[in-house]
Amino acid sequence: MSSVSLESLSLAYPGGNLGLADIDLRVNNGEFVALIGPSGSGKTTLLRAVAGFVRPTAGTVAIGDRIVASPARLVEPEHRGLGMVFQQHAVWPHWSVGRNVEYPLKRAGVARAERARRVAETLELVGLAGAERRNPATLSGGQRQRVAIARAIIARPQVLLLDEALSALDEPLRDRLRLELRQLTRELGLTVLHVTHDRSEALALADRVVVLDGGRIQQQGTPAELLARPASAFVARFIADATILPGALTGAGDFEAAGHALRVPAGVLEHAGIEHAGGAAGAELAVLPEHVRVIPDPDGPAVVTSSLFGRDGDDLMLDWAGLALRSRRSGSRAAVGERVRVEVERAVAYPCAGAGSGPALRAAAELQLAAVEGE
Ligand code: ADP
Ligand code: MG
Repeated sequence: MSSVSLESLSLAYPGGNLGLADIDLRVNNGEFVALIGPSGSGKTTLLRAVAGFVRPTAGTVAIGDRIVASPARLVEPEHRGLGMVFQQHAVWPHWSVGRNVEYPLKRAGVARAERARRVAETLELVGLAGAERRNPATLSGGQRQRVAIARAIIARPQVLLLDEALSALDEPLRDRLRLELRQLTRELGLTVLHVTHDRSEALALADRVVVLDGGRIQQQGTPAELLARPASAFVARFIADATILPGALTGAGDFEAAGHALRVPAGVLEHAGIEHAGGAAGAELAVLPEHVRVIPDPDGPAVVTSSLFGRDGDDLMLDWAGLALRSRRSGSRAAVGERVRVEVERAVAYPCAGAGSGPALRAAAELQLAAVEGE
């Protein structure tokens, strides 16, 4: 087992596409780290850089204390001591399960009897005891993915790399395999880097979660830290479905939405990276659905536009004079078309991203327009 360290890692694809920009990341020995981010944020590129399929433009990749990649040096993937599982084409269809799983040992020159013993042991570990002679075509998707996992761990890799390894599976199988994967990697003490676009999977499995966007790390922390203190409005929206509202902080420290009646008093505001000096300042407000209280009121200013039934409470979308808010609270139920009052119980104010231009101001302008139209 080993740690993985990326230092000042950047990668530009030929043709100029930015893959990664200035990544500093350490995955400790035995740690399970999940990498999440929107499509195109660089997750696969980061994994491929660790695996050795792409060469960094700047910076280094180390596995343990050995540098395996830098602009000048590239250790071949098969000499990095890694196990890998990808979303698709994970199992060779024309080979039996046993042959698939033993392949890394065969390459390493392990003798036949020892191979057979380890294949049996590993198949048992992934819940497929005795499946050596099966044809992969006769297996379910979940079983095939277990074969891929068995093949990835049989040679006792330093590090296990998973790229959307569970994403192609249907619930509830995916759920079960998630739990099994976590238990297995813990039992074996594996260092894991797990790429997924599924937030709940990342939060459920990982010791630490890394959020990527535009090839850069936006935040890393434990699942609890990310949920409690998103470092930016982007992370708050991506991780926790926060509604992002452009506006300004008044001299008294209250938040006023741009061109809208919504006010959030200073007492329930938390300031992230804003030095509030007493004057008015542009800000973006992140409001988690859990903090939007909905009070039925026939004269209320907002209306429920969608209501999805949830186990603990409905997942509501509200329209308040053009402002779309999401509310998801335990015990809260409301029907589409119902009029309500809205109370924001807690929110975090962030410095305006690119104050004076860009998406925040555009959104503010649209909001203003919508609010006027809504009067
Ligand atoms: P993710 O896995 O998060 O969806 P990727 O790592 O695949 O993101 O892609 C990151 C960025 O690099 C994207 O802008 C993508 O278009 C670009 N990219 C990925 N692979 C290549 C490639 N082989 N050649 C050129 N650009 C690429
Ligand atoms: Mg990808």
